Amino acid sequence: MRRIVGCCRFVFNLALATQKERLDQGHAELTGAELSLRLAEWRQRPESQWLADASIGPQLQALRDLERAFARCRARQAQFPRFRKRGRSDSFRHSNPGKFKLHQATSRLFLSQDGWLRYRNSRKFLGQVRNVTVSASCEKWFVSILTQRHVAGRRAVGPAVGIDMGIARFATLSDGNFFAPLNSFRRHEKALALAQRSLSRKIKYSNNWRKEKSRVQRIYVRIGNARRDYLHKASTTISQNHAVVCIEDLRVSDMSQSQASGDRAVRSPAAKRELNKSILDQGWFEFRRQLEYKLRWNGGRLVVVSPRNTSITCPSCGRVAKENRRSQAQFACAACGFQENADVVGATNVLRAGHARLACAETSPAYEASGQEPTDAYSQDC
Ligand SMILES: [Zn+2]
Repeated sequence: MRRIVGCCRFVFNLALATQKERLDQGHAELTGAELSLRLAEWRQRPESQWLADASIGPQLQALRDLERAFARCRARQAQFPRFRKRGRSDSFRHSNPGKFKLHQATSRLFLSQDGWLRYRNSRKFLGQVRNVTVSASCEKWFVSILTQRHVAGRRAVGPAVGIDMGIARFATLSDGNFFAPLNSFRRHEKALALAQRSLSRKIKYSNNWRKEKSRVQRIYVRIGNARRDYLHKASTTISQNHAVVCIEDLRVSDMSQSQASGDRAVRSPAAKRELNKSILDQGWFEFRRQLEYKLRWNGGRLVVVSPRNTSITCPSCGRVAKENRRSQAQFACAACGFQENADVVGATNVLRAGHARLACAETSPAYEASGQEPTDAYSQDC
């Protein structure tokens, strides 16, 4: 399995290098079909012939992963794809039904190259298996099973709500409820720093170095697990209680480069760096992705609105002014004197913009969060 993982990483990195080179020279990216042809060629070249020893399915899936990473980058939902490193995202995927079998009753998984393997069934899966992803983390192997099934249409229950995403509060709802930030990284930062310092003192590749290295990795995995758990709980709670959820269309570039408008408390480069660390720590994009599919499961809907002016518009009189935002937490309208928590104001404005978008959905193409590239309809104001 380690060998298959290595092949996938090699293919992914080679394809990424190819695409990067083409982009640098001003050429268009290769399409998925063209990349697949390249892969066939790599498998025949003498210097990378060893790729042909492993089945082609997982390697094609690695190319699909790269395509998806590029699409997300183009939609400005993620940064430019990075090269895969050993020990990080070690995984491969089988999507050809002929190459794997699953026996849920006996907890056994058959992979074409590895034969029958036993696994621990953490939950029962329903529907038809589409693919299996095998991944390695902290010396353990995991299998993730994607299935497909028809679900009877449901009608969502609950009111509409707007969400403001922030640092001081992870998510503030327009009804006043909020989710405190998880800051999983912050909480483990100390332990991580300690382990990393200790690692740097060890002789590279010695036994003690290896031990310390796996300790660092375990902390990273724990951070990831805590964050995933938190995000899933928050997105489940919100999607189960609301029929319509409105959210700002935040982009990576908006957030890592400049802070939200009206937020003047953060200014120095060091403070900005801290803020960026917080933002990346929060997993906002993953949260939005989860909200979208969970709402769809429940028959609800996610409405994505432009983040323009949501933090500096007065919900009472509609005045847009930077002075309205007194501080990170306090909103006070200079015209009518309306006062409220700044995050609640943001969420209220997001909800209002969402209502406007829904109202004019029949007359103009609405900008829907579908994970696809934002269209120009986004810039139209309803
Ligand atoms: Zn006002």
